[in-house]
Amino acid sequence: MPGRNFLFVPGPTNVPDRILRAMHRAQEDHRSSTFPELTKGILSDLTKVFGTTKGQAFVLPSSGTAMWETAIVNSLSPGDKVLAVRNGQFSHLFIDAAQRLGMQVEIIEAEWGAAVEPAAIQAKLAEDTAGTIKAVLVVHNETTTGVTSDIGAVRAAMNAANHHALLLVDGVSSVGSLDFRLDEWGVDFAIAGSQKGFMMPAGLGIICLGPKGLAAIATATCPRAFFDLRDHVTHNANGYFPYTPSLAHLYGLREALDMLLAEGMANVAARHKRLGEGVRRAVKAWNLSVCTKDLTCQSDTVTAIVVPPSADAEVVRDIAFRKYNLALGAGLGPLRGKVFRIGHLGDLNELMLLGALAGTEMTLVDAGIPITLGSGVAAAQAWYRESAK
Ligand SMILES: *Cc1c(COP(=O)(O)O)cnc(C)c1O
Repeated sequence: MPGRNFLFVPGPTNVPDRILRAMHRAQEDHRSSTFPELTKGILSDLTKVFGTTKGQAFVLPSSGTAMWETAIVNSLSPGDKVLAVRNGQFSHLFIDAAQRLGMQVEIIEAEWGAAVEPAAIQAKLAEDTAGTIKAVLVVHNETTTGVTSDIGAVRAAMNAANHHALLLVDGVSSVGSLDFRLDEWGVDFAIAGSQKGFMMPAGLGIICLGPKGLAAIATATCPRAFFDLRDHVTHNANGYFPYTPSLAHLYGLREALDMLLAEGMANVAARHKRLGEGVRRAVKAWNLSVCTKDLTCQSDTVTAIVVPPSADAEVVRDIAFRKYNLALGAGLGPLRGKVFRIGHLGDLNELMLLGALAGTEMTLVDAGIPITLGSGVAAAQAWYRESAK
């Protein structure tokens, strides 16, 4: 099909040409005396994206999923008890990883579409007077349902319970797009990947540890080898890696960090908020509902749209893909067929999103879902004009 594929899944996201060019490199000696400049610059700039001056960032050739494992095995010991909230497919898989790695997971079940409830965490921690719960696991932005939870409030709840559990946060679809404050929120392990807010191809796991997280890697006794952050601490200190790093990805990440920091993280978050609001207004104009229960928790990086019971969201996605070269995100787990998602994160502007909304409208009408062509586009256009600087 001629023209660009419209990639509007919530990851992988569009890779800017600048990043693609930066990755197009010959291989080089990763043990040269000049190589540490690249490593040290990347690791130091990453801390700015995570909102920390006290923490330390690590990059591993892997993915977001691998960073769940990295966070768990570097913070805990076999059989440790952890507390986790399940409110979507990613929190479900985070819990699954903890269970498979031998942790005892106490689960707070929440409706899919609900945000993490800090009061529920506080109540569970307050009951645990013996301090047997070693960590709290939460997903900042549930990509399944388009819900952003308040991590600052989770930390406040942990403090209010006077509990010393570590805070492990999945920020795969938030870090690099939404406001993220590792220091202020007291996050001990923050998890990210390359193919969402960082605008890169998949292939890198990125993780940032606060001071308590860094201390925990020395006392955790989980067996670990490739994901042992102690090796990274040692090698990264000199600007090297414990193995051959993925050079193309490192050069891509260097470029991505240049782009993000030139825009400024506050501006990046504001751009996502403004772009996301246009999508929300379009959905409202279509008279369709979103998966998110509390509209104040709607994500600025992804919107999960519920199709009427008579329709199949997988059919909607397939029409969009085959007929209009538009990739929309699938409903995950139990939401398959019931929900489709528009990803609005990464390298994105108003007109790209208006194109995606126009394609979604044509698709919905083709799928027999009664919306008025142009209604959502017009609502988003009005918002983008009104909110333009
Ligand atoms: C995409 C995603 C993941 C999984 O990351 P991979 O890089 O696909 O392993 C984990 N958590 C959240 C919230 C995500 O959006």
